Amino acid sequence: MSRSIKRSKTTTDIYHIVHFESDDSIYVFFKKCNFNCRGCIKEKSPWDSHIPDKHIKKLQNAGKLETLDLDGLKKIIDSKKPQKAVLGGGEPTVDENISNIVRILNENDTRTVLLSNGYFLDEEFSRKLISSGLKEACISIKSIDEAMHRNYTSMDNKRVLNNFKTLNDERITLRSESVLIPGLIGTNEIESVADFVSSVNPKIPFRIDPFKEVPSLDYRSPSTEEMKEAQARAEDHLESVSYLNPDAPTTGEVSVLYPNLQEEGKP
Ligand code: SF4
Repeated sequence: MSRSIKRSKTTTDIYHIVHFESDDSIYVFFKKCNFNCRGCIKEKSPWDSHIPDKHIKKLQNAGKLETLDLDGLKKIIDSKKPQKAVLGGGEPTVDENISNIVRILNENDTRTVLLSNGYFLDEEFSRKLISSGLKEACISIKSIDEAMHRNYTSMDNKRVLNNFKTLNDERITLRSESVLIPGLIGTNEIESVADFVSSVNPKIPFRIDPFKEVPSLDYRSPSTEEMKEAQARAEDHLESVSYLNPDAPTTGEVSVLYPNLQEEGKP
């Protein structure tokens, strides 16, 4: 799959933006993805899991996911002026306006963090994003085993791993993450990912996310003990390893900036 520029319009793939009061950050959701992961969390819900249930209900009633254009994004950023923006799943690099999105955020002094599967982030494209103001990238490495990667994502992992090595040489903060799926992408594989990351640079932080059960994939979520074991195995290779605790309480208000809940809430 190649990344082709088909349009020079101002449309984006952004369909949802949430603000976190605790660190004055926004999380920006993109609609499309170039992977087809069997356990993609978006199978469960396209909406941020931290927002209150009453808002989720309103969003669910809205039906079709409407996307923002660049002017709409600029208005939101101009009025909110967040300290940090996390661009995430789907896959932000599929958006043909991703450089302009990063530029708009950078012009507002918002630190922009890209969460990506890394497939499109070759040297040329990464440099374009960095020159637009991207400060940090976190690459999700699903697996090192090629067959396992293809089975899970439908794509090969060679480009991901090569792009990760290239990113380590760029002027950008680089982080890594993987998802633990007991019975499918288990502790051994998580250790292989950690070993690979270490071979690139043992100082790159690595986070392990627990798989969240989805109807499309018949595997269970890991226990806390399994997460701790995966962390310990990864720590044999890397200096900084953490894991996400999905049960940790969210502090501060979490508000929806897009879609506009007043409009979406109309019957
Ligand atoms: S790369 Fe992420 S957003 Fe894309 S299909 Fe996989 S889990 Fe979903």
